Amino acid sequence: MADNKIPYKIYLTEDEMPTSWYNLRADMKNKPAPLLNPGTLQPLKAEELAPIFCEELVAQELDETTPYIEIPAEIRDFYKMYRPSPLVRAYCLEEKLQTPAKIYYKFEGNNTSGSHKLNSAIAQAYYAKKQGLKGVTTETGAGQWGTALSMACSYFGLDCKVFMVKVSYEQKPFRREVMRTYGASVVPSPSETTEVGRKILAEHPGTTGSLGCAISEAVEVAVKNPGYRYVLGSVLNQVLLHQSVIGLETKIALDKYGIKPDMIIGCAGGGSNLGGLIAPFMGEKLRGEADYRIIAVEPASCPSFTRGTFAYDFCDTGMICPLAKMYTLGSSFIPSPNHAGGLRFHGMSTTLSQLYHDGFMEATSVEQTSVFEAAETFARVEGILPAPESSHAIRVAIDEALKCKETGEEKTIVFGLTGTGYFDLVAYQKYNDGEMSDQIPTDEDIAASVAKLPKVE
Ligand SMILES: *Cc1c(COP(=O)(O)O)cnc(C)c1O
Repeated sequence: MADNKIPYKIYLTEDEMPTSWYNLRADMKNKPAPLLNPGTLQPLKAEELAPIFCEELVAQELDETTPYIEIPAEIRDFYKMYRPSPLVRAYCLEEKLQTPAKIYYKFEGNNTSGSHKLNSAIAQAYYAKKQGLKGVTTETGAGQWGTALSMACSYFGLDCKVFMVKVSYEQKPFRREVMRTYGASVVPSPSETTEVGRKILAEHPGTTGSLGCAISEAVEVAVKNPGYRYVLGSVLNQVLLHQSVIGLETKIALDKYGIKPDMIIGCAGGGSNLGGLIAPFMGEKLRGEADYRIIAVEPASCPSFTRGTFAYDFCDTGMICPLAKMYTLGSSFIPSPNHAGGLRFHGMSTTLSQLYHDGFMEATSVEQTSVFEAAETFARVEGILPAPESSHAIRVAIDEALKCKETGEEKTIVFGLTGTGYFDLVAYQKYNDGEMSDQIPTDEDIAASVAKLPKVE
């Protein structure tokens, strides 16, 4: 069955690994709209971001013209401990589906944190250390980002304070223990330890929390404690920049064998893995050198692209963060706690939002039960237990491969397998027990939170 020219796994040698990140914004004619100061509604300047974020990361956030930014040697050395990640030809899945499509996935789950998030965590911790900071604060939803950041902070000897969305804190106690093992402190959010947390708890007693609440708490602690800055694991341009290592490695591996994908599929929470995976391909598309179908997959329970509004909004529930122009469900939108995986953020990367708005990519939403069905099919033939987030991409990759079966087209599909599902076994248990359901917001739910968008423009 195996195509004898293409191995099951395409690895790169250390010498073939990328030495620079690629900044997709440099090739965009319509740049993503700037972040605005929530008070003045004017574009944020570096000085205003400096009390919140590390200096070098602010520079990366605001840089929309430099296409390639060198990866510092210390970060490249850390990358070598778990990268390059394999690009796998899914021969067994193709066989199972009896499809003429050729399916590849880039697997980012081969590190202790279990996901792609380590690619940006190590970069952000490095710049914090370089600036001489004591530590960083952050939020974590499903727990992958907090875990990745704890690993990165312990490597560089930084303190790490994590606000973990309460529902995940309760559903995933083992995530918390991994973070504590790497020396991080972990607080369930919303908490009584911050002003904004106390306010949210007073207004919504019994809330299970959201990423938006946890972000507000983490920012408050960073701003109030000297020597601390806030770091974020997705959404921001700097995170997409670091994650471009995924796409660059994928492109180098495909080029080695002269493979040109027809479509590239990734799950989208805040957009960082997808933005990273597609970066070099989207660059070619923007420069008119090649064309690809690029598909973002989001959960039906938190459908920012497919049912959101393209507008300026807060990134957090406490409304203290900068305003970003993005596809959003409104910062007061809280997805159903029933939804198992990550991908629970109300907004989306400004870069991907602009590209989607300009027609350079597609988006689709899928329901949780069909996502776990796809995860099961994949696990049984490819062996890897996928993260529920990643399984959104698997769902659509399988659907596209099945379409090829009908039409007989031999399309090449590449998808991002962002992580492992070892910490999502409560969700797998629900699925296996037939107790999983889909909770999709009504138009009224979405309209109610979108009505509260800040008035800008
Ligand atoms: C965080 C996470 C995602 C979603 O975040 P993006 O910023 O959209 O990439 C997807 N998969 C896994 C495994 C994650 O940990």
